Amino acid sequence: MEQKDKVFKGRIFDGEKTVEEGWIELDKDGKILEIGEGKFPHSSPNVFGGPNFTILPGLVDAHMHFFGSRLEDIAEWNIIPPELVAIRSVPDMTNLLFSGFTAVRDLGSKAGIYLAQAQSEGDILGPTVISSGHSLAQTGGDDDFKVLPLEMAQALSYSYYCDGPWECISAVRKVIREGATVIKVYASGGFAAGGKPIPNLTVEELKAIVAEGHRANVKVTAHAYGEEALNNVIDAGVDSIEHGIGLTEDIAEHIRKKGIFYVPTMSVYKAEKTSTGYANLLSRIRGSSRVNRSEIIKRHLTKEIEIARDCELKIAAGTDFVGAQSSKHGNNSIEIEYLSEFLGAKMALRAGTSGSAECVGLESMSSLKKNETAGFIVTEGKPDLISSDIRKERIRFVIHDHKVFNVARNTNNLL
Ligand SMILES: [Zn+2]
Repeated sequence: MEQKDKVFKGRIFDGEKTVEEGWIELDKDGKILEIGEGKFPHSSPNVFGGPNFTILPGLVDAHMHFFGSRLEDIAEWNIIPPELVAIRSVPDMTNLLFSGFTAVRDLGSKAGIYLAQAQSEGDILGPTVISSGHSLAQTGGDDDFKVLPLEMAQALSYSYYCDGPWECISAVRKVIREGATVIKVYASGGFAAGGKPIPNLTVEELKAIVAEGHRANVKVTAHAYGEEALNNVIDAGVDSIEHGIGLTEDIAEHIRKKGIFYVPTMSVYKAEKTSTGYANLLSRIRGSSRVNRSEIIKRHLTKEIEIARDCELKIAAGTDFVGAQSSKHGNNSIEIEYLSEFLGAKMALRAGTSGSAECVGLESMSSLKKNETAGFIVTEGKPDLISSDIRKERIRFVIHDHKVFNVARNTNNLL
């Protein structure tokens, strides 16, 4: 064995099942030389881990934003200068990596595409970034900061507004030209006074976006609240549904039949009252002041997750965190803990590893197989049995992008 090879041993959760004792041997480029069950058959000075450790694929947050914002406030998200977004996102990237995330999907920001590039070129530390760049939305849609004149709102927005199939197609081409590796579309707006969500974009417009995204081999994901928007995006053939508030058994059945991923983003609706005020996060449910937001949220966080579980939907873990005080990057594994209350620890961990990886199109990165470039983490404890063992305090090693990070000692690249 070469001097610089590394061996990690412990329990292994491969994204589906667990073996109680196993090991992974890495070469000096971070490629898996061998993976085995039982005791490591050779002696080596470079063995890490042990019986109280679990090796598992890196965590993937399927829905987050690099907003560089300290606030949960649509005005701030729009007017914050992109330079500040980028500067604040660099430590956010490191925090994500050191809390066990080897990939994230940024679904709308002004910095995501450039963070993805800087990470892949080795300029900054962080997870692999799949990014939509600007999201797509109709004029006057959910994230249109309507107090401003339209031209000003569009100039500042992290979405491109597009109306009619041809503008929608053109907007897809524009974001792909800019480097988007996923298309994010807002298929619903806020809530009307009676509590009914307002669909955004017609099925025709949504179909045009999906077809153009798929023609470029890029996945399309849709923000959707309410039955009408959910039916529209299912009909249009999106790859995943974000939030999915308003899920019913009938709709879930359609989602399952089409193999669409469901990303319930529980974290963003689970706001606790804190010194910064929990109303911040609840403001993500936009619309009339007469809408009972807590009723909508309560149903989503109980009944709708149960429907998704019982219909055996493909569920991915996404936080919708933006990096603000109340949704800090680095705390994103909380989504797995919330999901575990309904799915159990193992299925929730599956959602946050192999499930999310498949949802964002990075299956191969999280597969623990011989000859793969490894992307895995080593935690203390048993996160497949005890969900809180996935917290950042429990992460010991992160292996990503040809490097090994000893998170506990804060040292980079042991290889
Ligand atoms: Zn979002």
